[in-house]
Amino acid sequence: MKVDLHCHSYYSDGKHAPDFLIQRAIQNQVTHLAITDHDCTEALVEVANTGSELILINGVEISCAWEAIEVHVVGLLFDPQDEDMRGLLASQQEKRRARMLAIDTKLQAMGNEGLMSYLQALPCISYTRSHVADFLVDRGICKSRQKAFKSFLGKGGRLYEAANWCPLHDAVSVINNSGGIAVLAHPGRYPLGKKKLEALADDFANHGGEAIEVSYSNIQQRTRLQLSELCLSKNLYASVGSDFHDAAAHWIDIGRFPLLDQQTKNNAIWLHPRWHSSNK
Ligand code: AMP
Ligand code: MN
Ligand code: MN
Ligand code: MN
Repeated sequence: MKVDLHCHSYYSDGKHAPDFLIQRAIQNQVTHLAITDHDCTEALVEVANTGSELILINGVEISCAWEAIEVHVVGLLFDPQDEDMRGLLASQQEKRRARMLAIDTKLQAMGNEGLMSYLQALPCISYTRSHVADFLVDRGICKSRQKAFKSFLGKGGRLYEAANWCPLHDAVSVINNSGGIAVLAHPGRYPLGKKKLEALADDFANHGGEAIEVSYSNIQQRTRLQLSELCLSKNLYASVGSDFHDAAAHWIDIGRFPLLDQQTKNNAIWLHPRWHSSNK
């Protein structure tokens, strides 16, 4: 089996339709795929039947607040129709829309009109800073997305707007109560030292989080080993995912990231009792 439990369609900030992700996953010999859009689940309905052997797993990536930082929690195998899940995602969408309006006001003050109509013309449900980065490049305001994040959209940037995301604990309990498994996404990407990361893992687990991502695109070996150790020491399940957004970013692909080492495989998420696949 080959699993990828983290990728994005154009319903959030991915560049492609859900069907494209599925075809690419099949091409890359992936057996289990979770589309985990930012704070929305529109892709899941559309691709309920792949017409192939590829097994689709319900997924979402929820932006959360933990202490002073933003962390992402991936939900897997939950029921997207669950009332509390729908309520939580609707509230996250509202925050995303409000943040875009605030960014648009700043852009207009700089003499740049048109962000909201640019966004409305996209197929997406979740408005993200990636879309603003594309807008800035499209309008010639920035040379690249990287520069857009550096000068405008990152913390301290001219267009930065803090988002008041839901608390980590809320996301975890909504995922659990809707039958899912909560996974701490890409823990090596947070601005946390070893001690603080451990505190995050403890807090996450104490509130019902069950898994952490230990392998993803471009992860350094040192980080992967550190996360495997953290996973095993906290007795969490180990999840993996590419965080694929765009086929043009050819250094990231569906199903492509370092494999779990033998020991971490003992805690692999596909050994979770609620993993419901026949293709183990
Ligand atoms: P948001 O959820 O609206 O804050 O947008 C965050 C998204 O922007 C992430 O999921 C990434 O896809 C993208 N992103 C964040 N930081 C960067 C960066 N430095 N360069 C390129 N993309 C970024
Ligand atoms: Mn993204
Ligand atoms: Mn993320
Ligand atoms: Mn992601």
